[in-house]
Amino acid sequence: MSYPDTLLLIDGAWRAAEGGRSIPVINPATDEQIGTVAHASTADLDAALAAADKGFKEWAATGAYQRAKIMRKAADNLRARAGEIAAIMTAEQGKPLAEAKGETLGAADTIDWFAEEARRAYGQIIPSRMPNVMQQAIKMPVGPVAAFTPWNFPLNQVVRKLSAALAAGCSIIVKGPEETPASPAAMMDCFVEAGVPAGVINLVYGVPAEISEYLIPHPVIKKISFTGSTPVGKHLHALAGAHMKKSTMELGGHAPVIIAGDADIKAAVKVMGLSKWRNAGQVCVSPTRFMVEENVYDEFLDGFVKLAEGIKVAAGTEEGAQMGPLANERRIPALQELIADAVERGATLKTGGERIGNKGQFFQPTVLANVPTEARIMNEEPFGPVAIVNPFSTLDDAIVEANRLEFGLASYAFARDGGTIARLTREVEAGMLTINHNGLALPEVPFGGIKDSGIGTEGGSEAIDAYLVTKFTTVAY
Ligand code: NAD
Repeated sequence: MSYPDTLLLIDGAWRAAEGGRSIPVINPATDEQIGTVAHASTADLDAALAAADKGFKEWAATGAYQRAKIMRKAADNLRARAGEIAAIMTAEQGKPLAEAKGETLGAADTIDWFAEEARRAYGQIIPSRMPNVMQQAIKMPVGPVAAFTPWNFPLNQVVRKLSAALAAGCSIIVKGPEETPASPAAMMDCFVEAGVPAGVINLVYGVPAEISEYLIPHPVIKKISFTGSTPVGKHLHALAGAHMKKSTMELGGHAPVIIAGDADIKAAVKVMGLSKWRNAGQVCVSPTRFMVEENVYDEFLDGFVKLAEGIKVAAGTEEGAQMGPLANERRIPALQELIADAVERGATLKTGGERIGNKGQFFQPTVLANVPTEARIMNEEPFGPVAIVNPFSTLDDAIVEANRLEFGLASYAFARDGGTIARLTREVEAGMLTINHNGLALPEVPFGGIKDSGIGTEGGSEAIDAYLVTKFTTVAY
């Protein structure tokens, strides 16, 4: 596989940054530079804004049927290139090839699903007080979108925003992830090849803060969407607010997992084991704070630690790799500090805790037990392959702990009793709760957080609303 250098997509053409500036791209499994990504200048951003302005007018006037057709063609193109794009993603992000391929095929499903939603952006006819008056509420695309996406799911984070925007009739400028630029660029290319008109989709890279400060206040941009950490999300949402722009925020989490004493413990170990180590835990919905009822605590902990110790950590290209390296070098010291702090405060390190080797950003699957509430890791998102497993004695205690943090993204539970399930469903403060299996993140179901985890949903039938505005019209005949 030859790793491609990434250019900017502006007004339908792939081009180098003005002045030729670029940023190196590193393979996190080898620490070697594998390519570069173009670093947009202000002139490039101005060109992208002009293109998005022009593209919006054309795309908004394109019928929903035609938009859906082009989108479905893009999904087919993506499926046809899934092997190639997965290999690119593994090289730049580190995740095992099978995960990268799954993400690519999943992105194609998301495009298909939103393509169908394009044709269902229904409005309303509102009964009138007078026989000669027709009142209607119609859905219109909000306008050009600025989207900011992170490196953990290079395609998935882009595709949710891109597909919803295109389905609604919006144009978009995506500020993609500088660490993992080539796979989202290849996906955007699938849309170009499918016939999305020039200017409708644009892709830029550079210094994230500089680009967001420039694009968000710009009068062409009417809608912001960001996925990333809570502090950055709060900043960008405030900036959007200052300019009266709609915004969707998909931010951090610290997912609680409540395992009740009557649960199927083998299933809990297996399902959570698969979820926790996926993408090396660099997932906003990654299960993190496990609360296990005392009578099954040892059984769960032993099973979970055993599973962690059996995970094959290797380069994503290696046969049978289950967990690749962390995506960038910032994550290793961040995790080491959180783990050392927890142990210092009395937690037991059951397994892992160390970097593996000194080449590539590999880290051991790590399980901490009996972690005190004041430990930093109980309060800050670890965003890595670390699980906290603590016991609880009453369901009340578990629910209080689940709701203790300001995060409210994903939550998980394992239980058989109907009353327990009903209480969890009502009382756990989270945008998503999955019980007895992992059923999150399908295109057709809501995906989003409450509290400090964000605003809005990026899945399900409501997702397109974030890219639409309601226009009321009334006509007397
Ligand atoms: P970070 O906070 O520096 O960056 C997170 C993301 O936000 C990156 O994609 C970055 O490019 C972008 N970003 C940062 N400042 C920005 C700005 N002013 N304007 C626009 N975009 C900006 O952290 P990091 O080291 O890259 O990632 C670690 C943390 O980020 C994690 O702890 C996690 O909370 C969060 N994160 C969350 C997700 C998610 O899926 N919700 C994904 C990646 C990272």
